[in-house]
Amino acid sequence: MTMKGRKLLMIPGPIEFEPQVLQVLGAPTTSHTAPDFISSFGNCLRMMKQVWECPDGQAFIMAGSGTLAMDMAGANLIEPGDKALVISTGYFGERYAELLKRYGAEVTVLKSEPGETVALSAIENALNTNKFKLMTFTHVDTSTAVRVDPKPIGELGRRYGVLTVLDGVCSVAGEEMRQSEWGIDVALTASQKAIGVPPGLALLVASPRAMEAWKNRKTPVGNYYCDWTNWLTIMQAYEEGRPSYFGTPPVNLVAALEVSLKMILDEGMEARVARHKTLATEFRRKINDMGFQLLPVNENNAANTLSAIYFPEGITGSDFMASMAKSDVIIAPGLLPDLKSKYFRVGHMGSVNSSDIVSTIAAIEKAISQVRN
Ligand SMILES: *Cc1c(COP(=O)(O)O)cnc(C)c1O
Repeated sequence: MTMKGRKLLMIPGPIEFEPQVLQVLGAPTTSHTAPDFISSFGNCLRMMKQVWECPDGQAFIMAGSGTLAMDMAGANLIEPGDKALVISTGYFGERYAELLKRYGAEVTVLKSEPGETVALSAIENALNTNKFKLMTFTHVDTSTAVRVDPKPIGELGRRYGVLTVLDGVCSVAGEEMRQSEWGIDVALTASQKAIGVPPGLALLVASPRAMEAWKNRKTPVGNYYCDWTNWLTIMQAYEEGRPSYFGTPPVNLVAALEVSLKMILDEGMEARVARHKTLATEFRRKINDMGFQLLPVNENNAANTLSAIYFPEGITGSDFMASMAKSDVIIAPGLLPDLKSKYFRVGHMGSVNSSDIVSTIAAIEKAISQVRN
């Protein structure tokens, strides 16, 4: 334990939260139709479109985790028999494929080797072979720490008339995000990662093209809770400052989101992305100096929000994790089923600063020295 009586949480979500954000969670809960709350909710929707850089998008805030945001995009955009392409760079790509099948999609998966990305030529080839309605990709796959460049995928989506869904649960507010400019139709995330709010909010911004595709559906949405038919008027009402009800919103979490989004925009997205990049580069350099190897094969595809690191030769992963568990820094184990025991993960996003990086490196060094034989 540190002097503050708690450990430093360096996992890829939940992360360390700012005290101002945590404070509003403990405030007395108001009515979900109180004027102050309506104003907070509206501010959140407007600020999301700024953070996502999607001024003409439709923002949604729901009680749920990131998987619910994935579900919302799938439920509203897929009809039985639609073809969907999943560009998978790890665990969360596989999840998206399974999810889309539940709504009756015929799913094709293009899967990269661990630590690599799927070649654009392979994506274009798939788009030439089949008429897909939608394709998904994971901006930063949290199982591999691989970042995919959204821009060329957005361009392909426009060129081939295919909706693009970006799983940004581990990227939004930590990595560069230009939803409109890149032509991304849905960009989704959850509160507990780089957005900096405790778990419980599913966040999504949909492009006009995505909303149009939903309006043109021939069949009802196969998920009652996620159906935009139920939620669109609610979001519009909050943005226009009117009370409205479908399902009770998580009042305190929305208040916390307002605080965090304000802090994000006060820092400025450009400065925030630059800070994440500087700290990630510093962390990776120290990790490399210690002789560790990263999962991402190409440095250009190494995420700035987290790192995935192979255990070095001669170190038993379970011994290292046991030693780390006794330290003041909490890190995460591997997640890819086939490689789980061969690597670990460190989150460095949101409120992370240089001393967090130094403390984490020190804890890793100490753990290694304790288990090296
Ligand atoms: C964490 C994560 C998810 C799942 O989010 P939950 O809040 O755990 O449901 C999905 N995709 C990515 C890329 C993630 O990092």
